[in-house]
Amino acid sequence: MIFREATPEERRRYYREEWSLDDVPEFILETLQQREFGFDHRGEGPSDRYNRISTPAQLEGMLIRIAPYAAYSSVSFYSRPERREGWQGAELVFDVDAKDLPLRSCSCAPGEVCGTCLAEAKEYILGVAEVLREDFALEQLHFVYSGRGYHLRVLDEKVLGMQSQERASLLDYVAGGVIPPRELLELRGGYPRVFRLRLLRLLSLLSPGVFRGSGIPRRRVGSLLEPRTLRRVANELEEGSFTLLKETLGSRGFGRFLELIRRLNAEMLDAKVTVDVKRILRLPGSLHSKVSMKCVYIKDVERFDPFRHAVPKFVEERS
Ligand SMILES: [Zn+2]
Repeated sequence: MIFREATPEERRRYYREEWSLDDVPEFILETLQQREFGFDHRGEGPSDRYNRISTPAQLEGMLIRIAPYAAYSSVSFYSRPERREGWQGAELVFDVDAKDLPLRSCSCAPGEVCGTCLAEAKEYILGVAEVLREDFALEQLHFVYSGRGYHLRVLDEKVLGMQSQERASLLDYVAGGVIPPRELLELRGGYPRVFRLRLLRLLSLLSPGVFRGSGIPRRRVGSLLEPRTLRRVANELEEGSFTLLKETLGSRGFGRFLELIRRLNAEMLDAKVTVDVKRILRLPGSLHSKVSMKCVYIKDVERFDPFRHAVPKFVEERS
């Protein structure tokens, strides 16, 4: 009964009986007046934008009254949000959507999600957070379950003023979206380590189909995908060494393989969300009506389970 679109009556019940202001994180309530709010009334996209909301009570009244198909708030802060003017900064956001993962170990059709790919999306966003903490000493990281994936919202003072170009560079870094210089590939720390971590994650999801069009000879792909070879390659990569991988793929094949990995890495996160400093993002606490799941601000990310913590009551009561 899950993942079916919510009816207008179910939306009304959700906001009237289940939703509460407590579902909206503090970091949004504290900055309500500086954010632009957007609403999607009929499932056709957030066409009702440029809304300024002054108080939590006003937000509460509005959501209960209009029971929107979807509700959004800007990740940016403005002095005049009702005109999207006077930009003061923006959260740094990373968005992983389980339905858009380039490789998944489940057999979901395009556009669908299941417990397996949702778990893979969560593991991935945790990996992004780890790099932000370890390599950039960022501390104010907030996780949100978006309904079909995860948002990571960074609120450290030093990222708020970043422009699109800086955000794009940071995105490339955490995702492994650039091939490190060859002479640095095997360095233990810094960016080469991140690239290897992302590669290691993809290794177990590779199949012959992934290599189509890569230009790597089938024979080479076959040798790499032998379970024993894959295991040994993974062990070596964990030690920082590419020797066996190079040997298996040949020098030209290895270059093409790095390019393939770079491309898959870059597809893991929705770049538009990170780079756009005027974006609106699904409001935590609101209903994702397309799939009938709650967008949830996550307090304990390790223990969070969308099927336990993001299913609205009306779904459980559907016959
Ligand atoms: Zn799936």
